[in-house]
Amino acid sequence: TAASGGGLVAYADSAGGSAPEPSQDAPKKKVLVLGTGWAGTSFLKDLDCSRYEVKVISPRNYFAFTPLLPSVTCGTVEARSIVEPIRRMFEKKNKDVTFYEAECFKIDASKKTVHCRSAVGTNLDGNGDFMLDYDYLVVALGATVNTFNTPGVLEHCYFLKEVEDAQKIRRGVIDCFEKASLPNISEEEKRKTLHFVVIGGGPTGVEFAAELHDFLVEDLVKLYPAIQEFVKITIIQSGEHILNMFDVRIASFAEEKFQRDGIEVGTGFRVVKVSDDSITMKRKSVGEEVSVPYGMAIWSAGIGTRPVIMDFMQQIGQTNRRALATNEWLRVRECEGVYAIGDCATVSQRKIMDDISMVFKMADKDNSGILTLKEINDVLEDICLRYPQVELYMKSMHMLDIADLIRGAIGDSHKESMVVDIEEFKKALCHVDSQVKSAPATAQVAAQQGHYLAECFNKMEKCKENPEGPLRMTGGYKHLGQFAPLGGEQAAAELPGDWVSMGHSTQWLWYSVYAR
Ligand code: FAD
Ligand code: MG
Ligand code: MG
Ligand code: MG
Ligand code: MG
Repeated sequence: TAASGGGLVAYADSAGGSAPEPSQDAPKKKVLVLGTGWAGTSFLKDLDCSRYEVKVISPRNYFAFTPLLPSVTCGTVEARSIVEPIRRMFEKKNKDVTFYEAECFKIDASKKTVHCRSAVGTNLDGNGDFMLDYDYLVVALGATVNTFNTPGVLEHCYFLKEVEDAQKIRRGVIDCFEKASLPNISEEEKRKTLHFVVIGGGPTGVEFAAELHDFLVEDLVKLYPAIQEFVKITIIQSGEHILNMFDVRIASFAEEKFQRDGIEVGTGFRVVKVSDDSITMKRKSVGEEVSVPYGMAIWSAGIGTRPVIMDFMQQIGQTNRRALATNEWLRVRECEGVYAIGDCATVSQRKIMDDISMVFKMADKDNSGILTLKEINDVLEDICLRYPQVELYMKSMHMLDIADLIRGAIGDSHKESMVVDIEEFKKALCHVDSQVKSAPATAQVAAQQGHYLAECFNKMEKCKENPEGPLRMTGGYKHLGQFAPLGGEQAAAELPGDWVSMGHSTQWLWYSVYAR
C-alpha cells in the first residue's frame, strides 16, 4: 500500500456525493445504460443488477462481435454466429434488467432524463417517443462512420460498422461478379466492375482487404473462372503507410503481404470525391488529382461522433471535441451521475503540472518548503497512481527511479542528500505530461472500461465511505490510467490477438480471449 497517510490528492470527484443509500427499504437507484456494444454489455455483464433498477436502451437487441465483421462480408463466418441477443444474455446470467429496443436522441443532464424513439414502430396513437429518468447514466453509444464530408461518399460507398453493413457488402461483391459475367459487358467494363477499392488503411480497412482477397482468390474465382483476370483490389491510405498507428514492423509486414497478394496499396492519397463510377483522389505531396474507375468502394477512413453525443457535448460545454471527456473514473466532467465508456468517450488524464503546488505541499510533510528524496519517495506510489504519465515518462527516458529524474533536471551534484525546492521540483517534472496518452478506440478498451465501471458501481457504498476513490478502498484497485492500453495505440498492437490478425485462425484466438 502507499506510504503516505491521508492520500496525496483528494479523489473527491471520483465516486462520492450520490452513492445509493445502504438502507434495505430505500428505493433502488436507477441505472440507465445507453448502447449494447462492447462497452455497454461488458458493463452489464459485470454489474450487480440486484443493487439497482437497471434499464437498457439500444436500437439493436443484440451484441455484435465486431472483430469478426470483416469475415461476415465474405461469408467465412455467418452473421448469426457473431451476434448475441441481449435478452438471452440477461436470461443466461439471471439478471433483472429491462430492455427497450429504441434509440436515444437526446440526453438532458439538467433534468436527469433521456429522450428515446422506438426502433420498432409507434403505438396506436402514432407515438414512438418516450422519456426515461435516471440516477446514474452510462453512455456507451459507440462511434459512427466519418466521411469527413467528402462529396459522394454517403451515396456511393459501402461502410463496415454494423452486421447489416457486412451482409450488404457480401451481396454487393457477388453482384459485381454477376454483372461482370454478363454477355454484353466489355473488357474495360469488366475491369471497372471488378475493381474493389478500400478507402482507409487502418485496422478495419486492412483486415477487410485481406479477407476480400482470400474470398476472391479462394472462392469466387472458382465460381467465375472466365473473369478471374479482371479482378483487382486497391487500398487507399492518406498517410505514408497503412496501419500507421501501429509499430512500423506491423505496417511493413502488412504492406509486403499485400504486395505478394497483388493488392495495390496507394499511400499518400486523399480521396476528395466519389461519383457513381469513379473515385477522385489527390496526391498529397504534389496536389495533382487522379480519378480511378471502380466497381465497389468501401469507406473505412475513420470514426466520427454520433449526433446525440455531439448535442450532449454542446449542452455541457464540451465543444470542438470528437468524444466525451471523462475523468479517470469515467465520469463525465461537470455532470452529476453521468458516466461514459467506449468509443464515444475519452479519459482525460489529469496533468501533474496543473496540480504541482498541491503535490509539492502534500509531499512536504514537515512543511520545510523543500523536499528530501525520502519525502518524495514516500509519496511516489501515490503520484504514479494518480499521474501514470510519471512512470511512462521515466520508462521512456530509461530512468531507474525518481532520483534519476530529479538529477537530470537539477544537475548531478546533489546525490543522496538531494533536496529540491518547488522551482526545482517543477523543472524535474515539467516534461512528464507529454506522456499523457489517450486510449485507442478498440473493443478491448471499451470492454475494459465497462468492466471497471461495473466494479465501481458494485462497490459504490464503499466509495462513499472512502471519498479518496475506488483506488484505496479496494486495495490496489486502479483507475483506468493504470491500464496498459493507455500506453497508446502501440500497446494495443502488442496485446494477444491484436487487430492485425490477417487470417481466421488468429481471429479465433481473439474470440477466445474475449468471449466470456
Ligand atoms: P459499439 O460496440 O459500437 O456499441 C454502441 C452501441 O450503441 C450499439 O449497441 C449501438 O446499437 C448502440 N447505439 C447506437 N446509437 C444509439 C442510440 N442513439 N441510442 C441507443 N443506443 C445506440 N476492436 C478491437 O479491439 N479489435 C478488433 O479486431 C476490432 N475489429 C473491428 C472490426 C470492425 C469492422 C469494426 C467496425 C470495429 C472493430 N473494432 C475492433 C472496434 C470495436 O468494435 C469498437 O472499438 C467497439 O465496438 C467500441 O465499443 P462501444 O461499446 O463503445 O461501441
Ligand atoms: Mg456499448
Ligand atoms: Mg459492438
Ligand atoms: Mg474511448
Ligand atoms: Mg520537507
